[in-house]
Amino acid sequence: MFGWTNTLPVAEPEIVAVPAALFLLIGLLDYRFRLRGTRWSRALAHVFPAELYRRQANSIGFVNYCLSLALIFKGGGVVTSLIAAQAIAGAGVPLAGVGGWTGVAIQVALIWLAHDFGNYVQHRAQHASPLLWRFHRPHHSAEVLTPFVQIQGHPIDLLVGMAIEFPFTLAGAVLALMLTGGSFLGGTLGGLGVVAGIGQLKGALGHSHLAICFGWWNRLVLAPVTHQIHHSAEARHRGRNFGSNFGIWDWMFGTLYVPEPGERFRLGLDAASLGADNPYRTAADIYCEPVASAAAMVGEAIRPVGFKDA
Ligand SMILES: [Zn+2]
Ligand SMILES: [Zn+2]
Repeated sequence: MFGWTNTLPVAEPEIVAVPAALFLLIGLLDYRFRLRGTRWSRALAHVFPAELYRRQANSIGFVNYCLSLALIFKGGGVVTSLIAAQAIAGAGVPLAGVGGWTGVAIQVALIWLAHDFGNYVQHRAQHASPLLWRFHRPHHSAEVLTPFVQIQGHPIDLLVGMAIEFPFTLAGAVLALMLTGGSFLGGTLGGLGVVAGIGQLKGALGHSHLAICFGWWNRLVLAPVTHQIHHSAEARHRGRNFGSNFGIWDWMFGTLYVPEPGERFRLGLDAASLGADNPYRTAADIYCEPVASAAAMVGEAIRPVGFKDA
């Protein structure tokens, strides 16, 4: 029987602990090899700059972190897709019965790719739809990046994103099961746990100041700097780098932006919404403003034609 109680990625402490340790290791390697730093006393300050965390703590980061159910939402969405896929595939006749480690590789790869594509689609929708953008804006209001920004956002933004990516993960999982005998294989859960851990690590690095870039290889795997560009306040970076793991979607659909080495940019919503003009300066702003602004937008849209204010 499939051990569903073990499938919630957030329920496994190592899903957070291992990525955290790797984050530290990658930050130290970044100091040594990209910055060519040799003073180890400064290495830790490079990985965790006190100034960035102080600015974050002064604004909304930690409050939002405590309130946010982001990780549970994300894990729950994937698990629900997998349960549904098992029900659908179990009711049909498998197309093939590939087993063993090849079968596990097919299951993990197809589910990962489908989920990642769904994530790309939902992220583009969050930017393209004026209504959805109102709920995604708070995530982009951060003017410093630390791993805590990863889960800074409005709960509706997270729920909508999960709903949009759901059918993609479901389709990938059904196809994977149909090719591999109709059920999840023994090693697949462990493989998906590793995938979840990689997602945590990539999320933390993408929402950090560690400007690690893979150059041409960003077309295949997105480096941390590509998501940092996605958080840029500069007009030239708008609508770029929607992907989270694989760069193929941004590359295929023309939204990939790989910065020049050392390219400098400000972080935030846009040039007119920085500092004192940032509309999201408290946790209450993040939770209330999108609802009020979306309600006003919907109210405007459904006003009878020809109706005029007195
Ligand atoms: Zn975005
Ligand atoms: Zn982000």
